[in-house]
Parts: sequence; structure tokens; C-alpha cells
Amino acid sequence: MHEASVALSLIQVACEVLEEQGGGRVTALTVRIGQWSAVVPQALQAAFPASAQGTPLQGARLSIQAVPGVGECPAHGPVELDLMRGLRCPVCNAPTPKLLQGDELELDELELA
Ligand SMILES: [Zn+2]
Repeated sequence: MHEASVALSLIQVACEVLEEQGGGRVTALTVRIGQWSAVVPQALQAAFPASAQGTPLQGARLSIQAVPGVGECPAHGPVELDLMRGLRCPVCNAPTPKLLQGDELELDELELA
């Protein structure tokens, strides 16, 4: 399952941060997930507890912050994209091939014990 491997890589990054901080446990973490990143937040939320078993993140609370997609329209500049319409300006329908944000998959905050 895709989200399980995403959970594992997030846990790996968190463990590296934890080591830099001198060890301990993670009690909560926040991740930023772009709406265009192909990761389903609910599925990640569901996959996380099992993936965190036996790691310093076991039992940690996972918060997911969804990041909307923003594209660059030649006429309107940065515009918030609608997933249903695809990579097109919602105002003038021009293609917005460049995603300015919305494909994030990153660790935002860690709460350490
Ligand atoms: Zn436009």
C-alpha cells in the first residue's frame, strides 16, 4: 500500500530529527500534504499507527495539514486550482502547467517528549 510506505518514510525522517535532538520520543507530529501529491490523508492516518509500532513514534498523534494546489496562470498569476478541473486556471481556463504548491509531502512539526 502506497500510504504505508509514505508513513514509513515520514517516520524515518522524524527519527533522524529525533537523533539530532539527542533521542527521546515523539508524542505528536504534523505533516503537510499537498492535495496534488497523490497521498490520501485518511489512508495515511490509517496506516500510521501500524507503521509506528516499535519506533520512537509509537502512539504519537498524527496531524495532517492539507495544502491546496496553486498554479501559475499567465493572465492571473498564482491561482488556487480545483482538483476536478485539473491543471487549469479556474478563472480563464488557461493551462497552468507549473504547480507552485500542492505537491508537498513533508514533516512540518514534531512534538518531543
Ligand atoms: Zn487565468
